[in-house]
Amino acid sequence: MGENPFGNPPTNLLPIEVPPHVLMLRGIGWDSNIYLVRDGEEALIIDTGTGINWHVYAGMWERGGYLEGVRRVIIFNTHEHFDHVGGNNVVKRWLERHGIEVYFAAHKITANVIERGDEGVILSYFYGRRFEPHQVDFKLEDGDKLRVGSLELLVIHTPGHTAGSSCLYLDDGKHRVMFTGDTVFKGTVGRTDLPTGDGWALRESLERLAGFDVDFGFPGHGGYIDDWEGNLKEVLRWLA
Ligand SMILES: [Zn+2]
Repeated sequence: MGENPFGNPPTNLLPIEVPPHVLMLRGIGWDSNIYLVRDGEEALIIDTGTGINWHVYAGMWERGGYLEGVRRVIIFNTHEHFDHVGGNNVVKRWLERHGIEVYFAAHKITANVIERGDEGVILSYFYGRRFEPHQVDFKLEDGDKLRVGSLELLVIHTPGHTAGSSCLYLDDGKHRVMFTGDTVFKGTVGRTDLPTGDGWALRESLERLAGFDVDFGFPGHGGYIDDWEGNLKEVLRWLA
């Protein structure tokens, strides 16, 4: 591996280990990317895809031993679309069968949509599925922190793609990464024409994100963002 901690460009179906705490799984088909952040006995899963391909990811996690020794997991949803929350219940049940305690977390707006099972916002019918509503244990606000072992992730509310969209920022003193959901991708941004989307809010959210020092951005779809500042400048220019 050279200077790029990821090694070669990512290929679908191969977990990408980002030292020291992050595992990236590229989404298959409609699925969002799924991330695992681990420290000791605790782990955070960021988004769960549609749930349709969960057995594939579960097999990779089992073969890689990524959850060995983990006792407690928080599943965080970056926002309330089905391709990010559809797998929530299947992932929870799978983890519980492995003896792991599971909690759900999301921004309070997203949490509310998930608890009500609001199909008009979740849009599960796009995928020919139904969303099974469930309780969200941690309803978060901008500025809250999620703890995973010794790590702390900052919750940044970034409305625009949806009203509840949020990013998570992790700075462990050596690496600074941002999990962006569908707020910003490599070379583009999330669409704002779906229910609760708002183009002006998205612009403000992107301007706010530009103020963070980030080595790598991990979006909800596609490859990682390695030029955080340049990428945001480019998408903001394109939105202007
Ligand atoms: Zn989305």
